[in-house]
Amino acid sequence: MGRLSRPAVVVAPLALAGGGYAALPAGPARDGVFAALGLVCVVVAAIGLRRHRPRRVTGWVLVLAGFAGWVVGDALFSLQGAWGIDAYPAPADGAYLAAYVLMTVGLAVMVRRGRGPAELAALLDAAVVATGVAVVAGVFVLAPIATDSSLGVLAKLTSAFYPVADVLLLGILVRCWALPGSRPLALRMLMSALGLVLVGDLYYTGTTLATGSVETQLGNDLVWYAGYVVLAASTWDRSLRELSDPAPRAEEGVDPARRLLVLTGGLLLPPASLLADGLDGHLSAWPVVVAGSAVLSVLVLVRVAGLLRVVRLQSEQLSALARSDALTGVPNRRTWDFELARACRSASESGRPLSVALLDLDHFKDYNDAHGHPAGDRLLKEATAAWGQHLRTGEVLARVGGEEFGVLFPDHDGEAARLRLLEMLVDTPAGQTFSAGVATWHQDTDSAVTVAAADEALYSAKRGGRNQVRVAPYVPADLLLPQPRIALQPIVDLATGTTVGMEALSRFAGTGPMEVFEQARTLGRLAELEAAAIGSARMVAVPRMLLSVNVDIASLTAPEVRAALAGDLEYVVVEVTEHTHSPADPGRVAEIQDVLADYRERGALVAVDDWGTGYSDMARLDLIEPEIVKVDMSVVQGLDSARSRALLGTVLAWATRRGAKVCAEGIETQEQLQILGDLGVHLGQGFLLGVPELAGAHRRTQAPEPAAQ
Ligand code: GH3
Ligand code: MG
Ligand code: MG
Repeated sequence: MGRLSRPAVVVAPLALAGGGYAALPAGPARDGVFAALGLVCVVVAAIGLRRHRPRRVTGWVLVLAGFAGWVVGDALFSLQGAWGIDAYPAPADGAYLAAYVLMTVGLAVMVRRGRGPAELAALLDAAVVATGVAVVAGVFVLAPIATDSSLGVLAKLTSAFYPVADVLLLGILVRCWALPGSRPLALRMLMSALGLVLVGDLYYTGTTLATGSVETQLGNDLVWYAGYVVLAASTWDRSLRELSDPAPRAEEGVDPARRLLVLTGGLLLPPASLLADGLDGHLSAWPVVVAGSAVLSVLVLVRVAGLLRVVRLQSEQLSALARSDALTGVPNRRTWDFELARACRSASESGRPLSVALLDLDHFKDYNDAHGHPAGDRLLKEATAAWGQHLRTGEVLARVGGEEFGVLFPDHDGEAARLRLLEMLVDTPAGQTFSAGVATWHQDTDSAVTVAAADEALYSAKRGGRNQVRVAPYVPADLLLPQPRIALQPIVDLATGTTVGMEALSRFAGTGPMEVFEQARTLGRLAELEAAAIGSARMVAVPRMLLSVNVDIASLTAPEVRAALAGDLEYVVVEVTEHTHSPADPGRVAEIQDVLADYRERGALVAVDDWGTGYSDMARLDLIEPEIVKVDMSVVQGLDSARSRALLGTVLAWATRRGAKVCAEGIETQEQLQILGDLGVHLGQGFLLGVPELAGAHRRTQAPEPAAQ
């Protein structure tokens, strides 16, 4: 059975009966039939209500009681006619008035809901329309009643009550209409029914004002009766249940254009009334219009304030949505770009360091494949939540790609950021891991360069076996200094013939390393270039093998170099070269020794490089107290000379005393190897033992590097 069929079952016979009524001649008998038909409508409505038994029934019962009151009024009215009672107010008026009160309260109960902004807005809309109509009623109905000297006080009050009740009823109808939420058929029918009754009332008021007679006309009765029939039928629709249950929230409201039209109508009523009053030549009701307009202005202002608040709230919500990632709720890529630029600016202003990290979940594709995409989504959410717990004020975690995230660590150098990321790494949920790369931003550097360096470090971490954090080498701020690429040359234990380490040698596209280092020195940027080389070398270190990096004694304490030598230095050999004379200044000596002590504390070995070339060789040994002395290739190549033999004897004796090792550089022949081994030289390096080979280019498209390269 369709929704409409039930109310239709009721409407059809009642409408027919109405037709029969209209055919009767006017008189008390016809008025009696009208009351009887009204009674039938009330009973039919009550039956419908009983059948559907809505859960919250009070409002509905009150509305029906009001309906019954109207019908009782009709019955009394016909009796008064039959008995010739001419008093005003008469008993029928009492019934009508009670009916209006019941009806208004019932409707108010029925449409009462929460106290949200939508409810307030609906109430204000209703008040605007009601105020507008009240002004019309005031000018054309109430004012004449008030000034009518033929009416007693009670009669005046009674006459005034009708338009006031109608205005109230209209207000509740508008409120009902303006509320967001679905409008079930039963509600629409009820509203139509009351609308018809209001039209009937208006009709009656119009005719009584125009003719001075309280008799009703047939057309007027038929309008009221149509309202009764629709009211009776409204309880026969199944949606009656929904109507009394609380309506679901956040649904489409009334079409805004229609709402505006209705509100405009309400607003225009006072000026229209004033116009009509003025055209009539009266202008007697101006205080009513003034009062109504003032009330309307306030209502509209409150309504506009509410709208402005909603607009502001929504724009805040929208911009929050635009700024964050829908799945995880953390800032999205756009926000990341914005925050990165901002962090660089503030680091530039404060002179404090800033580290930029990129992290990427390991084998996330496999996780998705094993547990399903929704589980992957959940992991992304949980992981960002877990990492977010570690962030401090001013730090930003953003989702910059599918399973790739960016983190900003203001006030952190690369190593400090790495430690923070390690804390986050162990907190990654579901036993998952990530790899991360960190780069430190430098003054006047394009932040994109820093991000690219972090990306490079991230993929170095991936190649290094994942589940780790790597710090990018120092990135020069401009391109005056070319980026070194690293070649690794084996260092061999001469007693066993095994490779125990690699020396990292810088290579540059198109130029020899000596020229580039010379240029850097003249630019005063030697330390910067050395730091870049050290950083790159650490990225290509071979696991569990010594990695020798070169530092000029003048740069040993430079901040760039110290940053490049941050963190754990196990397996790192710091080879101290000397292109200038050793410092004589005692303060400088202490500074160098402090830095070396720091490197050693973190696991580094220290070597003296190019030993035997003449610059205060012994003084250097005493200053640096190296674990390894690297004998220059010129000594190895002049092995048959007495000078070379003497130098080797001296350094071997010194090394034996100190428990240090001697490493010979530039071994090219089997014979040299033999002699050096016989003399007791521990380590060797040279073309005979292994040529320098470029370490793999760090591109993410590459397959994982082999263990040794
Ligand atoms: P690697 O350790 O090299 O990073 O391996 P991987 O599998 O994590 O990397 P790869 O780039 O091969 O795959 C990334 C995977 O991340 C593939 C894609 O399905 C998944 N992914 C990206 N975005 C989302 C997302 O929003 N939800 C889910 N569930 N998976 C995502
Ligand atoms: Mg991944
Ligand atoms: Mg060297």
